[in-house]
Amino acid sequence: MDQTVDSGRLSTELERLAAFSTAPPPAVTRVVFSEEDHCAREYVKWSCREAGLSVREDAAGNTFARWAGSEPELPAVATGSHIDAIANAGRYDGTVGVLGGLEAIRALQRAGVRPRRSIELVLFSAEEPTRFGLGCFGSRLLSGCLDETADEKLRDKDGRSLRELRTSAGFSGELSSVRLPEGHYTGFFELHIEQGPLLEREGVPVGLVTAIAAPASLRILVEGGGGHAGGMLMPDRHDAFLAAAEIALALETAVKATGAIDTVGTTGVCEVFPGAINSVPSRAKLEVDVRDIDEARRDSVLAALSQACERASRQRGVSVRTELLNADPPARCSAELLEVLTSACEKRSIPHRRMVSRAYHDSLFMARIAPVVMIFIPCRNGVSHRPDEFASKEAISTGVLVLAEGLAAVAA
Ligand SMILES: [Zn+2]
Repeated sequence: MDQTVDSGRLSTELERLAAFSTAPPPAVTRVVFSEEDHCAREYVKWSCREAGLSVREDAAGNTFARWAGSEPELPAVATGSHIDAIANAGRYDGTVGVLGGLEAIRALQRAGVRPRRSIELVLFSAEEPTRFGLGCFGSRLLSGCLDETADEKLRDKDGRSLRELRTSAGFSGELSSVRLPEGHYTGFFELHIEQGPLLEREGVPVGLVTAIAAPASLRILVEGGGGHAGGMLMPDRHDAFLAAAEIALALETAVKATGAIDTVGTTGVCEVFPGAINSVPSRAKLEVDVRDIDEARRDSVLAALSQACERASRQRGVSVRTELLNADPPARCSAELLEVLTSACEKRSIPHRRMVSRAYHDSLFMARIAPVVMIFIPCRNGVSHRPDEFASKEAISTGVLVLAEGLAAVAA
């Protein structure tokens, strides 16, 4: 078997896909169930059919393109990612794993490979949380991490439900039918840009992901007492913002105290009420994101955060209420699939390193129903979710080659 990657064709396809965008180039904005999303999906499906794959869609809009193996009754091996893009993003996040997955299949076809297991390309609905405030609803539903109540619960900013939006985008049927059983796939590979600087900095073309960090996110509501910025004396104050500030700093301290490079915590939202220069803040809202590849360590940070909330409440005479928005468990990648990819890199003399993914991906949820592994490729300056996001033809091509080797090995 000697497959080669058609990097010119793949790069043209990535460019075409990027044109389905509400933002002008080089920016890409593609929100799930928008007109642009619809056109992008049609383009991907058309390209899959052109490669002789049979296409199926589920009620959530997850799309499956299958290359039938010689023993199609066996669980298939799958690869895939997403094509939705947050506002003002770039053209490589997710799309490299979808169109690159397709190119990997075509490379195997050109090389005359006849897989025993079917190979399936999966396009997941909405990896990004843009529309519904929750990332990965497609892969969550697929893996049973979200149930059919999401149909009414998930709503966009205009109050339109998932049911309404998916139905008008042409995806009807019951959400309960989306779930796939454990064992449906024998393995799942996801090719993705690193979205970090390590591979480029070290000059290593391939990262093999050993674990995927998962976020826990909380909303913290602080209620104190407001008043006139001049008239209210300092000893009488119950300033909600200052309590919130102490909580945010305590989060940083707790994260650093784990001593682990893989523990990160961010207070990305701080809203102060009434938000006037001459008024003592009476209310503050924080939104906090804590991530780790080790669930127990992440939970220790959450425990320290909750102690900080109690302390701030006691010392400043304010009330503090916390609301857990989401807490997904992190995932470990499959040791066997890591070995498969290590051999693939060695066979092709491609330098590689093992690393963790600090961003979450659809693989985090696929790990609930199948062994998973991710292949990272470098992106320029580690930049992602920006119009200047860039991965070179060569970098993508190397990733696709490793993916193709991996798919072929598991499907053989
Ligand atoms: Zn992505």
